[in-house]
Amino acid sequence: MLPTEVMAIAQSELVNWNGMGVSVMEISHRSKEFVALAKQAELDLRQLMNIPDNYKVLFMHGGGRAQFTNVVTNFLGDNGRALYLTSGQWSRSAIKEAKLIAGEDAIDEMNIVEKDDDKSKVVLPDLEQLKQAGQKQYRYVHYCPNETVDGIEIFDELNSPWPVVADMSSTIMSREIDVSRYAVIYAGAQKNIGPSGLSIAIVRDDMLSLPKLTQSSVMDYSIAAQNDSMFNTPPTYAWYLASLVFKWLKKQGGVSQVAKVNQQKAELLYQCIDDNPFYKNGVVASNRSRMNVTFQLADSSLDQAFLQQAEEHGLLTLKGHRIVGGMRASIYNAMPLEGVQALVKFMQAFAKANS
Ligand code: PMP
Repeated sequence: MLPTEVMAIAQSELVNWNGMGVSVMEISHRSKEFVALAKQAELDLRQLMNIPDNYKVLFMHGGGRAQFTNVVTNFLGDNGRALYLTSGQWSRSAIKEAKLIAGEDAIDEMNIVEKDDDKSKVVLPDLEQLKQAGQKQYRYVHYCPNETVDGIEIFDELNSPWPVVADMSSTIMSREIDVSRYAVIYAGAQKNIGPSGLSIAIVRDDMLSLPKLTQSSVMDYSIAAQNDSMFNTPPTYAWYLASLVFKWLKKQGGVSQVAKVNQQKAELLYQCIDDNPFYKNGVVASNRSRMNVTFQLADSSLDQAFLQQAEEHGLLTLKGHRIVGGMRASIYNAMPLEGVQALVKFMQAFAKANS
């Protein structure tokens, strides 16, 4: 979801933005009006996330997956190596891409999910000990704090002697993050930022001097930074919508306030799942995602009926990712508490009618 308020503003400004008599998507990205919008969006994001001055904020093309490539090409030149932690589908996808570009030998993998009483649980590794014990040196450690498909979230901070690169596509601005603990944070836009097509990379200055692999200029963080994210024409309409989302978030009281509502939404939904043997969730309480609540019906033969009736109640896109099946409620920032309440009411009624 995008906030309804944001969509309404976009609608009202569609053909006449900023009193210019044209749409924001029709003007040059180098016009003083768009440059002002871009600068303000960056300032708002810096304020929302409390981003320190020694970080560049880059607005880039290509979504989350483009950043899978970018971190490799920007940091793994001159035979650099990286460690990738695996916690689900998206960290696995990042590893696949990293190996494709840097080669199998450049990437070490470490699984961090264990089963506890048949439930998935994240156990963070002691990387300091790994450094002391081994000969390996890593340019960075990559992990994904919220696995969108698996419904697994990592709330504990990762302690690492190596720079930490985090795929925050489905974490960003859902709760407060201490940016200074990370070397790089990246995110595809289409969850808590804006529409798809845009991605954001928050890169600590010192990372820009690491040796790079040969790469396309549009993927180069240094070139993006030197050109204020306008080396080539950026996705201006997505950037404009992101700027409206940032303003909306500030109006809600910022990330700390939205985080409280997010916690409330998630607790309500997990409570409904735990209270009713009709539903199951396979993740330990401390690693349950607040953004993507995955659940299964104890009797999967009712899945189709559940989805169909949910849709009739205006509850859309509850089908789990094709890889894992079951159900998934993605309850990003723009989803109001009332939306989750409506889902819970429907789930209770469906369970009662089919038990
Ligand atoms: N990482 C995570 C955690 C995601 O959830 C997604 C998309 N769902 C991606 C990466 C890939 O993003 P995109 O489709 O924008 O490339």
